[in-house]
Amino acid sequence: MLAINEKHIRTHFLNASKKERTELTLPEGLDAVDWDSLDYFGWRDPRISKRAYAFIPLESGEVVGVLFRQQTPPPNPQLCGWCHDVRMRNEVVFCSAKRSGPSGRNGNSVGVYVCQDFQCSLNVREDPPLPYDGFDQDAARTRRIDGLVERIRGFAANL
Ligand SMILES: [Zn+2]
Repeated sequence: MLAINEKHIRTHFLNASKKERTELTLPEGLDAVDWDSLDYFGWRDPRISKRAYAFIPLESGEVVGVLFRQQTPPPNPQLCGWCHDVRMRNEVVFCSAKRSGPSGRNGNSVGVYVCQDFQCSLNVREDPPLPYDGFDQDAARTRRIDGLVERIRGFAANL
């Protein structure tokens, strides 16, 4: 994805109030992020409990931000709704996002189970063991990345 900076972060949210955009804490090491290896960029606010953010590139190329409220991990492990990683090596939490515009101001939100630290891009790139000889790892990886991109775009478009 394209690199984003602090100014972009504070001005491109779909569903955050001015107060929320001002009070957010930037992730550590924003200058050192390997953007090429990410399909979207998310982090948990280190100072505000249960607050998290994700920046998602739309089909138009624009990168938009979503503010989430993260809940505690569910009693039963859930599949991440974005990367669908069946190995489930990280916690998956329920996140809710206020809808954008008037609908959100009326209290409507959208929920999704998602990797707690937004590890989806890593999960879709790491290859599982070969299921059988001759299995096409590259094609499978491309399919996982495409699926993730489609799902995060769909989520942002429906907000
Ligand atoms: Zn995930």
